Amino acid sequence: MNGIKAVFFDAGGTLIHLDAPRICDLLSEELGITASLEGFQRAQSMAMQRVAALVAEGAGSTENLKREFYSTLLPRMGVRSDLAPAIDCVLKLAQSEMLWRRTEAGAARALERLKERGLRLAVVSNSDGRIESAFHQAGLFDYFDFFIDSFLVGVEKPDPRIFRIALERAGVEATEAIYVGDLYSVDVAGAREAGLAAVLYDPFGLNAEADCLKIREIGDLIKLLDAV
Ligand SMILES: [Mg+2]
Repeated sequence: MNGIKAVFFDAGGTLIHLDAPRICDLLSEELGITASLEGFQRAQSMAMQRVAALVAEGAGSTENLKREFYSTLLPRMGVRSDLAPAIDCVLKLAQSEMLWRRTEAGAARALERLKERGLRLAVVSNSDGRIESAFHQAGLFDYFDFFIDSFLVGVEKPDPRIFRIALERAGVEATEAIYVGDLYSVDVAGAREAGLAAVLYDPFGLNAEADCLKIREIGDLIKLLDAV
């Protein structure tokens, strides 16, 4: 990819992930429910795809999307009976703690290598005002030039305006930036509408039919920048 000066990232499901052990502990303490961590990352991806499908259909309120997310995720963690109280319990915790705060091995190294190339890095996230806190907790804050939090700028993906805000902040043209995210209808569609090239982070190959560049690891971005 010649002429790329900036790489913008989605946050949840791409660079930061749910603190699943914290959720398991909470459900155990509050409701006596045993949830499993086995296969968690795939379960999180599937729950995210559920949200993406709803957004593609016209979605609903953010509150409703959060509920749909957990009603897809928790059964895949073994929570079947007591699903409704379990969802309420996790949603309540999510208000008091930023639960998206874990990162995967390899993400920091990939970001470091992108920085070494002189690329400007930023996060463009549909969040609730806590995105910088999430990246501090995940230990990834220092890699980024800036963060765009939808709650703070008043517009959210897939609206192309949020990507234009990021382009302006970075001081680059749309053709000089790429966007990396895990949801086709939110991340890829929105970025393209703003004129950016988009890369879908699809670690489990759940979007085989998607007509865009795809990576299965964040580190694959380096190869992609060299190759395309
Ligand atoms: Mg995401």
